[in-house]
Amino acid sequence: MKEQGHLVGDFHIHTEMCGHATGTVDEMVEAAISMGFRRVGISDHMPMLYGENTEGYAMSPEMLPVYVDKVLEAKERYADRIEVLLGIEADYYLPTQEQCVEILSPYDFDYIIGSVHCLDGWLFDSPDEVSKYDDLDLDAFFLEYFDAVEELVRTGLYDIVGHLDLAKKFGRFPSVDLTDRYRALLGAMKEYGVAYEINTAGLRWPADEMYPSPAFVRLAAAAGVPVTLGSDAHKPEQVGLDFDRAVALIRQSGYDRVALFRERRMVEVELA
Ligand code: ZN
Ligand code: FE
Ligand code: FE
Ligand code: ZN
Repeated sequence: MKEQGHLVGDFHIHTEMCGHATGTVDEMVEAAISMGFRRVGISDHMPMLYGENTEGYAMSPEMLPVYVDKVLEAKERYADRIEVLLGIEADYYLPTQEQCVEILSPYDFDYIIGSVHCLDGWLFDSPDEVSKYDDLDLDAFFLEYFDAVEELVRTGLYDIVGHLDLAKKFGRFPSVDLTDRYRALLGAMKEYGVAYEINTAGLRWPADEMYPSPAFVRLAAAAGVPVTLGSDAHKPEQVGLDFDRAVALIRQSGYDRVALFRERRMVEVELA
């Protein structure tokens, strides 16, 4: 059956458990219900395995089982009103990758979003560390970033690439043409069966566009790489934010369906 694209579901949502968001699991789910969503995926930040002072960046390791229980409990309790899916936003950072696999392995997630937030010890998406952009070879940074994203895909751990071109968050764009990088990355995504999300949070930062760029989305649609939707909400009011624009972007780019994940298996919903 066909569905209205903007109501299929929001699959990238944080909660107060990560330390820099507001809203309980219930409040995020209620927000999705009030917007008329069919599904809602909670995907809070997994415990951070790198960096020195990580308080306020992610939930503590002790919180992970609590998080999973809370989302699974909500899944049951809300079952007749909305489908709640258990996701997690997991970092890809090579030095801690083995540990990442280990810490996530006990849980039955519906899906794992893989995100690159850190390169060479630099949390490049943190407003606290933004001054580093001032003396940076921006082109080299973008290329290194996309190398890491391709590595992420090739680990086979993740179902969805999170905010695929996060390197542009603070509005600094490279001069190098990334088309070849995009093609290589899409080849890897096809090979590994990995999807990506339209993440509307980019509209709320200096980048002032969704992640990833329209150029990437067009190539991805032509390559047949599946796409899903996420607001990256860090408060209830952000659930489903700008999904009309996200759906317009994927339609214009050639998609007629959106993907979602249940028990690590991809399901595609046809757009009405
Ligand atoms: Zn966050
Ligand atoms: Fe992220
Ligand atoms: Fe996020
Ligand atoms: Zn995120």
